[in-house]
Amino acid sequence: KSGYGKDGIFRSLRPPLKFSKDENANMVSFMFKDSLSYAHRLALADADSGEKLSFREFKDKVSVVGSGLSQLGIRKGDVVLLFSPNSIYSPLCFFGIVSIGAVATTVNPLYTAMEVAKQVQDSKPKLIIAVPELWDKVKDLGLPAIVIGGDGDSKGASSPITSFSEVLTMGVQKSAPEVIIKQTDTAALLYSSGTTGTNKGVVLTHRNFIASALMVISDQELEGERHLTHLCLVPMFHVYGLGCIVYGQLQRGNAVVSMGKFTFVRMLEAIQEYKITHLPLVPPIVIAVAKENIVARYDLSSLKKVMSGAAPLGKDIMEECAKRIPQAAVTQGYGLTESCGIATITFPKERNSHFGSAGTLVPGLEAKIVNLETGRSLPPNQSGEVWLRGPNIMTGYFNNPNATKMTLDKEGWLHTGDMGYFDDEGGLFIVDRIKELIKYKGFQVPPAELEGLLLTHPQIVDAGVIPLPDLNAGEVPIAYVVRTPGSSLTEKDVMAYVAKQVAPFKRLHRINFVDSIPKSSSGKILRRELIAKTKSKL
Ligand code: AMP
Repeated sequence: KSGYGKDGIFRSLRPPLKFSKDENANMVSFMFKDSLSYAHRLALADADSGEKLSFREFKDKVSVVGSGLSQLGIRKGDVVLLFSPNSIYSPLCFFGIVSIGAVATTVNPLYTAMEVAKQVQDSKPKLIIAVPELWDKVKDLGLPAIVIGGDGDSKGASSPITSFSEVLTMGVQKSAPEVIIKQTDTAALLYSSGTTGTNKGVVLTHRNFIASALMVISDQELEGERHLTHLCLVPMFHVYGLGCIVYGQLQRGNAVVSMGKFTFVRMLEAIQEYKITHLPLVPPIVIAVAKENIVARYDLSSLKKVMSGAAPLGKDIMEECAKRIPQAAVTQGYGLTESCGIATITFPKERNSHFGSAGTLVPGLEAKIVNLETGRSLPPNQSGEVWLRGPNIMTGYFNNPNATKMTLDKEGWLHTGDMGYFDDEGGLFIVDRIKELIKYKGFQVPPAELEGLLLTHPQIVDAGVIPLPDLNAGEVPIAYVVRTPGSSLTEKDVMAYVAKQVAPFKRLHRINFVDSIPKSSSGKILRRELIAKTKSKL
């Protein structure tokens, strides 16, 4: 009943995945395989601008964007960096890029110029696609660019700029040359810090996206659900928005309503206006749905499902949220960028009865719960590190064989750095995170990155960054800092030094000055000790 086998492996309780490794190699042709039969239905809508695209229009535009990019010299394997908030242009560009075999890398719009530059250094894009509001952060990179909504003459450009409308005109004039794309070809480099260190490019193939999409929608198939409408306010630069919502739902023929300028009220208005059926959220927004009185003022009767992912969500909040929207199922999913967004989702028969669990394994994915001391796999109800294996698991970290070796073992298991257990019904409960990663409202904050930054301050000799539990954000980063002798550096100084260089969600919330940072004999920061020290003071 739990899916646990004699070989120590948990398998999905869902019907097997219908997934062919050979046909429909390209994730874009796969996405449109049945779209003729619903060509006039809504594919994408933009809740900010009101623009709409039917599946026919969406398909045509993706192909034109692909051709336009070819005219600009983009070839198979070239990396294109996409720097945009959620909008209908973001998927158009993403699919345009991957349709010609090029590789998309997406960047959080909240990133500072310095943070984008780091990703540029690592991923080496040939071209940047940005919106005018973000242009300032990339204009000095010296790379050719496309500006969405810009006039082709963006200020301060040090390299050729093309407007998006010019790209469309070029794309209409001449189609892209035929390229052969294999399922094993890379489609995207999405950045994650993984279990340790700073950001790395997670290499995701066309197969990873197709497999993940089929896993995400497997329950829709089981229950015969069609033509749903998802509101996508979770970011499209992240695999949750890009893989699970945009790609997963569009390839199923569901509509996606994009929201770039999120406020809680705009979300409620959009649910009403677009008759949203599925609402994928992150825990802080689920908490607001459960608690904010304003929710009662809106007609949310179209909602069939409220989903939570990207960070843990407790039983009580799930229950409260379900009471608030009685006709909707409140579900939870768990996944990583490295698993192309998905691993477990609430099982249909357990909706609104198994609160607190992160769900059960999606089809086609295997899991092990491993005791880190003995290396043995554990049966139900015992906690260990969660390992995952299946066609959605990344092929590795971009140009980083060492990090890849530490995370993906020879048998193909992804070591997630999350601690959890499966119960007797196959429900996964995540109990702790043993990797370094901090998650602020679902956003990744890699401690090693902040520690590196702190060490660039002339009056800081050592630093350790850890998470502090927070009711609203889930976790916030705080730092232990060792100053140079005689330094009069204050908490405020340190916080300001970091704040001006990082995205707002990475800002430090507290600084503790100490004489030394606890380290292992190999020099690794003992974050657990710092966490225990912080807890004892709370
Ligand atoms: P990311 O690569 O940004 O998607 O981050 C993946 C990490 O987010 C996982 O390894 C978990 O630590 C955390 N996470 C995602 N979903 C959940 C969940 N439902 N419960 C607990 N942690 C989660």
